[in-house]
Amino acid sequence: MTNHNNSLRIGIVGGSISGCAAAIELSRAGHEVTIFERSLGELKGRGAGIGTPVSMVQALIARDLLDADFPYFTSSEMPFLGRKSDDDHLGHTAWVMPISLALLNWSDLYGNLRRRVPDTIYHAGCAVSSVKMVDGETALLQLEDGRDFSFNLVIFADGYRSMGRQLICPQTALHYRGYVLWRGVLAERHLADSAPLANTVPRISYKGLAGHLVLYFVPEPKGSVVQGERLVNWAAYIPVPAEELPQFLMDRQGRQRFGSLPPGSMRLEEEDRLKRLMQAHLPVYYADIIQASHDTFAQPIYAADLPTYHQDRFCLIGDAGSVCQPFTGSGVFKGINNAIDLTTALQSQTDIATALRAWNQTQTNTGHRVAVLGQQMEQAWIWTAADFSEMDAATTAAWWKAAVTFPEEFTYAAAEV
Ligand SMILES: Cc1cc2nc3c(=O)[nH]c(=O)nc-3n(C[C@H](O)[C@H](O)[C@H](O)COP(=O)(O)OP(=O)(O)OC[C@H]3O[C@@H](n4cnc5c(N)ncnc54)[C@H](O)[C@@H]3O)c2cc1C
Repeated sequence: MTNHNNSLRIGIVGGSISGCAAAIELSRAGHEVTIFERSLGELKGRGAGIGTPVSMVQALIARDLLDADFPYFTSSEMPFLGRKSDDDHLGHTAWVMPISLALLNWSDLYGNLRRRVPDTIYHAGCAVSSVKMVDGETALLQLEDGRDFSFNLVIFADGYRSMGRQLICPQTALHYRGYVLWRGVLAERHLADSAPLANTVPRISYKGLAGHLVLYFVPEPKGSVVQGERLVNWAAYIPVPAEELPQFLMDRQGRQRFGSLPPGSMRLEEEDRLKRLMQAHLPVYYADIIQASHDTFAQPIYAADLPTYHQDRFCLIGDAGSVCQPFTGSGVFKGINNAIDLTTALQSQTDIATALRAWNQTQTNTGHRVAVLGQQMEQAWIWTAADFSEMDAATTAAWWKAAVTFPEEFTYAAAEV
């Protein structure tokens, strides 16, 4: 399907990370691609960082999905630590897990991908309202403004509340996992001492509370990696019972939010409550970073393990497919891998139905394995989180080895946040 005669007309719903990655890969393979993105103008990152294996960033640079000088930091150590006493400044390090993580800013990743998609095929401000098959080989996609388009293949890259997932897997619900990810960023210039965060990704247990905090430096959004201009990116996993979630997601204007509280929308009394909670649980240095951060934001954590990624001429990629806990590294890079694999499958088969079936099998299997990994990590890091302040290196390493068994393809899976 690489030659011109086998070129497909492909419509992509959603122009964020997964949609742009798919458009680049499929266009390079000779397909005629159109992206429809609901938002107008450039998508703005929430300022938050992403961690992923260094090998993943190198592979994306080698593939020319990212610039050769793409800004990121690397870290080779993940200390597990906890607070010994109320005035404990930096906490007790139980064990340092060896890692090979690249730490980057979402906005740089999106910017690199978006620049590789020509404006002529990226239609911003175009919300897709419905999609249906009109015959065995043609899908009709309709926009909210009434225009319609026909395609040989429609790819849903429309995020965790995907219209495509509802179409293909109507029985699969998103399951709220009972906790939220509360996040924030702080410019390095506000730190009296940035040395404790140099080249490291600490995971910090709370005393007597489920969840944990993780934090690390990322480049600032314009890509500066200069010391003094970095951003501290922090993310605290905090339990919020399902019945309290609607109240938690009520914003400053009294509006009920659903999927997230974007920066600047969290009620100040809620932000203060969470800051006090962290002061009661974290070593002083880390609690102070959170205390000094403003316009924090939060997202409830959901999971959905899908029976299929494909039906007729529809495919799901990224968060539109399986949704897993962020610490599995299943968000940004799963979407990009779904897109690369789909392009390869279409190239390697002469028949589109065979290609889609083969692609679907691989994505569904990977999705299941990540779902199992997510459950293991969730138990270890959220619900039965160890108190690292009381543990030594041997006990902590043994605890981790028993708690989480990585599938072979995940060389280091504790990515993203
Ligand atoms: C603006 C934005 C900022 C983000 N910032 C961060 C961050 O700083 N750190 C981080 O870790 N993660 C961030 N994320 C989340 C992260 O991108 C996703 O969790 C993950 O990367 C999966 O990406 P995705 O492309 O599959 O889905 P998403 O990034 O969720 O993108 C889905 C896209 O589909 C569009 N869409 C949805 N429905 C329709 C429709 N009917 N018609 C047309 N378009 C539609 C949405 O507008 C959205 O742009 C951000 C997401 C967005 C949208």
